Amino acid sequence: MSQAGWQVDPESGWLVENQTIGFEIRWRLQRLLHHERSAYQDIVVAELERFGRALFLDRILQVAELDEFIYHEMLVHVPLAALPAARRVLIIGGGDGGTLREVTRWRDVEEVHLVELDEAVVRVCRQWLPQLGAGAWDDPRLTIHYADGFAFLEAAPAGHYDAILVDCSDPGTPADTLYSEAFYRTAHRALAEGGCLVQQALSPFIHRDVLTTILQRLAAVFPQRGVYFCPSISYLIGLQAFVWGAKGTNPAAGPARTAPDGTRWYTPESHRAAFLMPPALAIFRASA
Ligand code: SAM
Repeated sequence: MSQAGWQVDPESGWLVENQTIGFEIRWRLQRLLHHERSAYQDIVVAELERFGRALFLDRILQVAELDEFIYHEMLVHVPLAALPAARRVLIIGGGDGGTLREVTRWRDVEEVHLVELDEAVVRVCRQWLPQLGAGAWDDPRLTIHYADGFAFLEAAPAGHYDAILVDCSDPGTPADTLYSEAFYRTAHRALAEGGCLVQQALSPFIHRDVLTTILQRLAAVFPQRGVYFCPSISYLIGLQAFVWGAKGTNPAAGPARTAPDGTRWYTPESHRAAFLMPPALAIFRASA
């Protein structure tokens, strides 16, 4: 049976994710809170057993209440704490608000631009996942642009951003071009001297080939680049990878300044630990 266009087993109430990575993910649906088809994608917010509220785009889980803070804190605070200062920050994607929430905790940030392809994601998340962007959507430093992240960056002034945080969907979605060498070249141009780009880059185990390709493309542009990890519960991939490329900053060296109070996963220790490469991940060590 299809509930609101979704594959939901009528007997059990399990909701089937649209994964194509060799295994099936089924979520125990407590309540379907919202479903719509935007100009770009199928959007669902559901209440899941144990995982809390979750956002799905084209039937792929993007964010769940249970562990979203780990991903968002590590995406944002690792690069921002590695920089001596971050006045101008660009977020590409991130329409759920979690990355924005963490960025706005830094008082020295003067302007934040969030470039999200799909206005509907922001509207839906502000309504159904308000704690994701708690307080941040109304921050006077924020400007939202509804546009393609690559096109936006091509038009950005050279050397403008201290940090570019790419919180986009996976390759094979409307975010595909955000993993291209041409995109990294454009980002390099838009970064200030000393600036840093970070992007979510799937799993070092399940998507090892994809992550390797992403790092090769990054290496063609950024002499200083690498990868770091944090735990992932709701993506069911064990470790979440983030790639980084920098112009004179080295996040792998640890924090250069103190992050805002109140983080639940990010600490100076978890920052440094994120760059540990056990033997099973040694192939990524060489790229840093
Ligand atoms: N944390 C998530 C993950 O790991 O997959 C990403 C969540 S966030 C909701 C992803 C956002 O990227 C979506 O809202 C989507 O609309 C946006 N997006 C996809 N392609 C984009 C593009 N080319 N430019 C800007 N935003 C894009």
